[in-house]
Amino acid sequence: MAKVLIVEDELTLANNLAEKLRSEGYLTITAADGEQGLEKVRAERPDLLVLDIMLPGLDGLSLCRIIRRDTATSHIPIIMLTARGTEVDKIVGLESGADDYIVKPVALGEFLARVRAVMRRAPGRPVLQDELISNDLTLSLTGRRVYKDGDEIKLSNKEFDLLAELMRHKGVVLSRDLILTKVWGYDYFVDKRTVDVHIRWLREKLETDASDPRRIVTVRGVGYRFEG
Ligand code: CA
Repeated sequence: MAKVLIVEDELTLANNLAEKLRSEGYLTITAADGEQGLEKVRAERPDLLVLDIMLPGLDGLSLCRIIRRDTATSHIPIIMLTARGTEVDKIVGLESGADDYIVKPVALGEFLARVRAVMRRAPGRPVLQDELISNDLTLSLTGRRVYKDGDEIKLSNKEFDLLAELMRHKGVVLSRDLILTKVWGYDYFVDKRTVDVHIRWLREKLETDASDPRRIVTVRGVGYRFEG
């Protein structure tokens, strides 16, 4: 049975959605705020997440991004709910990694149809977040391949993970510590210079001139930033 987590602070709506889903054979779990939602996503590993955008504390868009960045949860399909129906919200919702979008007030019949549709295409679905694209670089997360100008660039596993981490946070400085934690894992004992060595290898493969890097720049005393 598919398990659906509903993160919604309007309890009446949450209960109505849950009841509708249960009547169709789904298992349901609810959470009334973002933090609780995140805990339940991690603990319960739902098959689908129905996520309200306006939540007390951690909001739905931020929660969606967190879920998408974590490889343990990034595959979970997400349907966003919102009271606001502007195009801007829709774009923000989809950019944050949501699979679908429902504007309140929610019609239960439509809700169910959307849930079914998203669940149907859930396995191996080509979602927006499968590809990270920057200029002539395309990184396929599920295929674990990187293309530059359409030509595949062969990367080692760690080089790939490192590049994915950098590309996910384009324009943001990532410290060596953070990179070590995300790419090599919390418990893995690795010298911080390992990061520098892998950055150098990546530059040799991706930069036009590795001695004058433009894509992955060094921020002295801090770490590295992916520029494009
Ligand atoms: Ca709300």
